[in-house]
Amino acid sequence: MIQTIVLPGRENFPKSVDPAIPLSRLQQAVDSNIFREIQSRFGSRPISTWGFTPTLANKTPKNWNALEVGDRALFTGNNEAFAVARIFDKVHHPEYARQMWGPTEDGRIWEYMILLEDVQRLTPPIPYVDLNPPLGYSSTFVYPGALLLSPERSLVLSALLEERGIKPTPQTPSPPAPAPLPSRKELEGLASLDKPSLVQRRAEQQSLRRFLLEGNSTALCALCGESFSQDLLIAAHIKRRSDCSHQERLDFDHNTMLLCLFGCDALFERQYVIVNAEGTVHLGRRAETDAVQRRQAELTARQVRGWKQPAQPYFAAHAERLRQPVTDESEA
Ligand SMILES: [Zn+2]
Repeated sequence: MIQTIVLPGRENFPKSVDPAIPLSRLQQAVDSNIFREIQSRFGSRPISTWGFTPTLANKTPKNWNALEVGDRALFTGNNEAFAVARIFDKVHHPEYARQMWGPTEDGRIWEYMILLEDVQRLTPPIPYVDLNPPLGYSSTFVYPGALLLSPERSLVLSALLEERGIKPTPQTPSPPAPAPLPSRKELEGLASLDKPSLVQRRAEQQSLRRFLLEGNSTALCALCGESFSQDLLIAAHIKRRSDCSHQERLDFDHNTMLLCLFGCDALFERQYVIVNAEGTVHLGRRAETDAVQRRQAELTARQVRGWKQPAQPYFAAHAERLRQPVTDESEA
């Protein structure tokens, strides 16, 4: 059943919903990594978004949690409903929201976002006196911020809209659903294993990758920065797993990263590239062929995506292996 969220839209609707934000403007507003990430996820269509802040207790807002792809947003203001739109994706992206809209007065960010399509203006708008009574509200009721209608009310609204000739247009196919996020416990259990079997290694690889994908179906490779679908990415340990202490294996926030299967994983695993103390990619092992040299050159001087200071010792341990002979071992 389609749910409806009523949103107070007079002020922000024209800023982020309609007209939609063209990619060219988006590109100027956010940094290049975020832009590429958004583009890989949403393609090249202009983007209509709405953001919700976390609660005062810094929790995920209930409304946003409850919303699902295919649900409807109803925009209101000045005592009338003036537009509807369909939710085609949900994304939690604090950095995008901060760069696009900045913080609220109390410092919160509109980080819980819904992506909208099929935005339709109601012409004429539906005044509250016509809208509210069928929904079971008094005609003077004013919607308090964002309000999720009950399923019954949402059904009534569908009928009301249909009377006015407002029908949802067919949905554009949604991207493949990403795998659910693994729990930290699940990950820790697998990371704790001293000598995991092949099956356990695979399970660890899969849950680590889901962890690093953060619920997305695509992500950027940490070294080349290009966008790949999940089946073309590997969750790589920075310091070789078999060299890690128990504690280091559990530090997946800093000791793992997503690398593409288009070369970055292999070049890093075999130290053809290494990363310095500032998170910059450097030449590692000397390449014996032009093809490898070319790929090395593409990566050097790049900043590792998402590099954080606590990752530095792991990259140092990785670079240390340069002194050791190349092995065929396939352990990352
Ligand atoms: Zn790559």
